[in-house]
Amino acid sequence: MSDLPERISLREVGPRDGLQNEAPVPTTSKVALIDALSRTGVGRIEAVSFVHPKAIPSMADAAEVWAAVAKSSEVRYSALVPNLRGAQRALAAGFKEIEVVVSASDTHNLKNVNRTTEQSLDDIAELLATAHAAGATCQVIVSTAFGCPYEGDVPVERVLAVAGRALADGADGLSYGDTTGMATPSRVTALVGETRMRFPVADLNLHFHNTRGTGLANVLAALQLGVTDYDASVGGLGGCPYAPGATGNVCTEDLVHMVEDMGVDTGVDLEAMLEAAREAERLVGRTLPSQVLRAGPRTKLTPL
Ligand code: ZN
Repeated sequence: MSDLPERISLREVGPRDGLQNEAPVPTTSKVALIDALSRTGVGRIEAVSFVHPKAIPSMADAAEVWAAVAKSSEVRYSALVPNLRGAQRALAAGFKEIEVVVSASDTHNLKNVNRTTEQSLDDIAELLATAHAAGATCQVIVSTAFGCPYEGDVPVERVLAVAGRALADGADGLSYGDTTGMATPSRVTALVGETRMRFPVADLNLHFHNTRGTGLANVLAALQLGVTDYDASVGGLGGCPYAPGATGNVCTEDLVHMVEDMGVDTGVDLEAMLEAAREAERLVGRTLPSQVLRAGPRTKLTPL
């Protein structure tokens, strides 16, 4: 394992990807969760999304949430946006880091934002220029990168074409989203390997859902290829309202627990993240899929 990266950067997406797919929680609860996460040592938090309130009512209070968050100078906060209008709202709220999402498959993109992938990429070119003019950076997330629930497998070439267009238009970083948990380690190796060859200097983030239990295995496959940037969700919160059967993201504390024991530094204090996971369970009022939260860290001793 000596060839694994010494450290990785985690972006905590529970407040956004997680809460977006839960029964609505009050604004104060969202703020409390983000504030708890800000105390865990995690370097980045995707705090809110600026989507149309009719599309995702649970995110209608994004600007209010952001205004009330106790911003830590140790954390980079970002917002997810579906389109230019969302980007304008995020920039007006003061975000300097945004993510915009486009699906690699037309059917998923049409379902999601009522545009073809090509139409969304045209919009994103304008959005990137707008973000840059405002002094902000923007990462382009290519979702359904490992498969589409409506079209099945998405060819690697298709994903690379979408990624290449985004980078050519000025994307500051690239993320591959496994929206519906269709990735496996071999597919991660294939797509990441080709991406590295085609776009060797592009910043690459990976966003896995644990829908079919392959989340941490996918992270390990990508670690072995040197990928140092991952999304994860406290407690394993998460899903996607447009992806039938999608369940939570890779769980942050489970990921931290695994990779830290392999000598990979995440900057995250596991105990503080477990406390944030307990807070997340209280907020949503249900047991979350986190396994380390249930069992405790591997070195926890059982009384005789
Ligand atoms: Zn997701």
